Amino acid sequence: MVWTAGNVSARVPGADLLVIKPSGVRYHELTPDKMAVCDLDGNLVDGDVTPSSDTISHAYVYRHLPEVGGIVHTHSSYATAWACRREPIPPVISMVADEFGGEIPVGPLARVGDDSIGRGIVETLTGSRSKAVLMANHGVFTIGKDALNAVKAAAMCEEVAKTVHLAKALGDPVLLPQDYIDFMNDRYQNIYGQ
Ligand SMILES: [Zn+2]
Repeated sequence: MVWTAGNVSARVPGADLLVIKPSGVRYHELTPDKMAVCDLDGNLVDGDVTPSSDTISHAYVYRHLPEVGGIVHTHSSYATAWACRREPIPPVISMVADEFGGEIPVGPLARVGDDSIGRGIVETLTGSRSKAVLMANHGVFTIGKDALNAVKAAAMCEEVAKTVHLAKALGDPVLLPQDYIDFMNDRYQNIYGQ
């Protein structure tokens, strides 16, 4: 992220609370006491900071998607370039199948400050295996079982956005067949790793 853009939050296990990056603070300046603790309506309940301007949208996602434990937002360059064209990233590389289980979809054009972005995330990702949404003309929002998994999805989203961009620049990438996507997604999500 450039300067103070983007944000990350985590659900507090066992409580109707979230912890989120403060607004307008550079990442290398973040310390635990500078993080904002908010309720699931986005109200600050602990901390001496102004929470991220996307807090109400993060809270909306936590209220509506109980399996989500972490949310990340970036304006990473390649993924945001797809968002500017309002073009989903197609499943043409095994890494898209592994991490996202299909195309990375595009969400609506939404204003910052209220729950518009949150509603767009929930509407777009409900019924999708993707953990990332390209919010139109804005950037990437990712979800995960915890904050680290949401960071991982954001990193993977940028990587596949870059690779598929390069593939398209050279010609027409070939779409993966659905049975291959399903096999690879199941293997990566349930078998891969320690
Ligand atoms: Zn943003």
